[in-house]
Amino acid sequence: VRKYRVVVLGAGGVGKSALTVRFAQGRFVSDYNPTIEEEYACDVQAEGETCLLEIMDTAGAEQFTALNEVYIKRARGFVLVFSLTQESTLQDVDNIRQQIQMIKAQEGQSIPIVVVGTKMDLAREREVTRDTIKDLAARWGLPFYETSAKNNWHVTDVFHDLLGQMRRR
Ligand code: GDP
Ligand code: MG
Repeated sequence: VRKYRVVVLGAGGVGKSALTVRFAQGRFVSDYNPTIEEEYACDVQAEGETCLLEIMDTAGAEQFTALNEVYIKRARGFVLVFSLTQESTLQDVDNIRQQIQMIKAQEGQSIPIVVVGTKMDLAREREVTRDTIKDLAARWGLPFYETSAKNNWHVTDVFHDLLGQMRRR
């Protein structure tokens, strides 16, 4: 079985753990534990082949920059998470995106990345517009997904897109 190691990065509280647990275990975690750092392994089908996705759910962005570097070096694919309800968390995604490009640049290939906006169900609290997302997707040349871990919207799309990118490399 082919193994693919991915890492989930982004600011605290944006929904990294909720997204990961929704995908790996099919349930919604409603409580917030900022310190959880956990690796999940799941079988995923891609073009009739079973792959093993190892998903590292990390415990924060700003506070753990040195640790981020270790995660980035070990991983093949990246899930960069922000909250649709907190526009400032896009800045963290941009910082991490640049950090990944710096660390992985020498590999000389395109880096498998998906950008994920969470908490789509909280429509009244939404701060990030479709236009902002379209604009950033074009500028960064990366796929964006709007998701809800609570309602299970577009969560599997994220990981299937990333697996596809990793397999095509
Ligand atoms: P992390 O620090 O990035 O791992 O954030 P968590 O996954 O722990 O989520 C922080 C809080 O936001 C928790 O209370 C989650 O239940 C909540 N949350 C995460 N994703 C969603 C979502 O899609 N919808 C809603 N309504 N709440 C969410
Ligand atoms: Mg977490």
